[in-house]
Amino acid sequence: MDKPWRIIILGGGTAGWMAANLFAKQWPREQVQITLIDAPEIPIIGVGEGSTPSLKRFFKTLDIPECEWMPECQATYKANIRFVDWSPASGIGNYSHPFYSQPDVFNERAFFTNCRTRRLGLDVVTEPERFFINGELARQGKAPVAPKNFPFQMEYGYHFDSQLLGRYLARVAAARGVVHRQATFAQVLRNDVGDISALQTRAGDLISGDFFIDCTGFSSLLMQQGLAVPFRSYAQQLFNDSAVVMPMAAAQDYPVETRSTALTAGWCWHIPLMHRTGNGYVYSSQFINKDQAEAEFRAHLGVIDSAQECRHLQMRVGQLEQHWAFNCVGLGLSQGFIEPLEATALHLVQLTIEALIDALDQHQFTCAGREQFNRTVNNHFEGVRDYILAHYKLNTRGLINDEGDAAGYWRANRDNKHMPESLLQLLDVWFRCGDLAEELAQRKIKPAFNAASWHCLLAGYGAFPPLAPNQPGQGKGDLYRECDVAKFVEGCALNFPLHKTLLMSDRKLIEPGA
Ligand SMILES: Cc1cc2nc3c(=O)[nH]c(=O)nc-3n(C[C@H](O)[C@H](O)[C@H](O)COP(=O)(O)OP(=O)(O)OC[C@H]3O[C@@H](n4cnc5c(N)ncnc54)[C@H](O)[C@@H]3O)c2cc1C
Repeated sequence: MDKPWRIIILGGGTAGWMAANLFAKQWPREQVQITLIDAPEIPIIGVGEGSTPSLKRFFKTLDIPECEWMPECQATYKANIRFVDWSPASGIGNYSHPFYSQPDVFNERAFFTNCRTRRLGLDVVTEPERFFINGELARQGKAPVAPKNFPFQMEYGYHFDSQLLGRYLARVAAARGVVHRQATFAQVLRNDVGDISALQTRAGDLISGDFFIDCTGFSSLLMQQGLAVPFRSYAQQLFNDSAVVMPMAAAQDYPVETRSTALTAGWCWHIPLMHRTGNGYVYSSQFINKDQAEAEFRAHLGVIDSAQECRHLQMRVGQLEQHWAFNCVGLGLSQGFIEPLEATALHLVQLTIEALIDALDQHQFTCAGREQFNRTVNNHFEGVRDYILAHYKLNTRGLINDEGDAAGYWRANRDNKHMPESLLQLLDVWFRCGDLAEELAQRKIKPAFNAASWHCLLAGYGAFPPLAPNQPGQGKGDLYRECDVAKFVEGCALNFPLHKTLLMSDRKLIEPGA
């Protein structure tokens, strides 16, 4: 190329700034010129405060240490997600989904085997947090940050203030050569093959480019409105379409996990940040209205004072039929959204950017990699959808106590017949006592969640048959006890600092080894 290739990113939410930074890191300015446009009068969505471990990879790729970005974004560590009251009829009040880390390779077989033994009716330990290092760290309130001499790589996510993260990423991008223009987009101009040639702003300016990234949030101004790319809704599968949010004072003990509690017609998150706790109730408007949701949310939080305002949001679940159409890619909420359970939205943003960088590099900045890219991103979305959907399909709420209307939402989820074949097949393997890890390994497409995550979900829900009447005797066949998993996990945990101690310390002195 004799001139730099011009990428125009429309939208300056987290998705837009993540893309700007990863592009600027990947390609020198002489090769690719990056411009980000946003409208100061159109705010970012401003929710989304939990991540998966892929955000750790994001900052590593950008060479930004935790001691730099975390304090700026009031961030804390996340080792785990705790699910409360999702499966009361199984007798399990809560369970955890710990992020899988390298030391877990020693115990995952014991966990998988115990899950299978339990499916055969024997009484063995199957609580996920007892097998996984991050589960134990969360139980002890310890940070999952390994000291330099710890011989294994730790994985973890973060909690962060999304407004601050966006501002931080904008500053980094500007320092790395990304051009930031503030303007309100009005319409797309297209050439004779249908590609976008320029964006026209409300002030009448034309901003031309070679390639465009639509990061305009749920409005999807370029992909859906400009290029008429159809949207595949998941509303028949995932019922939640609304949320009500309200922050509260910070928790003094700084939990190292997100808490997701099932309520009448959805679930509520609690996300502990340095300066506050983020809370939100994600619900289905088919089952309760806005006022009912707010009243239940306030009662759940114990905040009756109406002077403390709630914010209401609408969500659209599903994905674009093509994430890349003509010379434009949808990214972030404009490309689709599953729902916030398991906090996968930024994870999908990052996978989409990485897939795009690969496609552009491999095909010399042409659209030749478009079909493969669309298949890849579609599969990521469907993999996440299946995992999230399983949380709803398998719930056992309202089975023991008649919760009246409250049970309606959960029963409808349990009885929902709109299940993808890919999910039904996995559940079938589990309930037939098959090898779930083997089933996932054989899939042509790498699953979005690994075998450990699926076992955590299914065991955490107590998705098991009743215990057999005759048990072989205390602890027989229980690999948790035979392999002394507790000793290993608790021994590993001795190496880690308390979460609160680490957050309050001079981070520059204790930057993690791995
Ligand atoms: C209730 C809820 C909870 C969530 N929780 C999580 C979570 O825990 N973890 C997670 O990873 N994700 C979560 N998400 C998703 C997360 O919020 C988003 O993925 C993330 O914030 C990225 O948003 P975005 O950048 O795509 O869009 P937005 O933040 O909406 O940004 C849109 C941008 O487009 C610009 N724009 C719009 N129109 C125009 C125009 N005409 N001209 C110029 N610019 C324009 C705006 O100015 C803005 O900069 C949650 C979402 C919801 C709804």
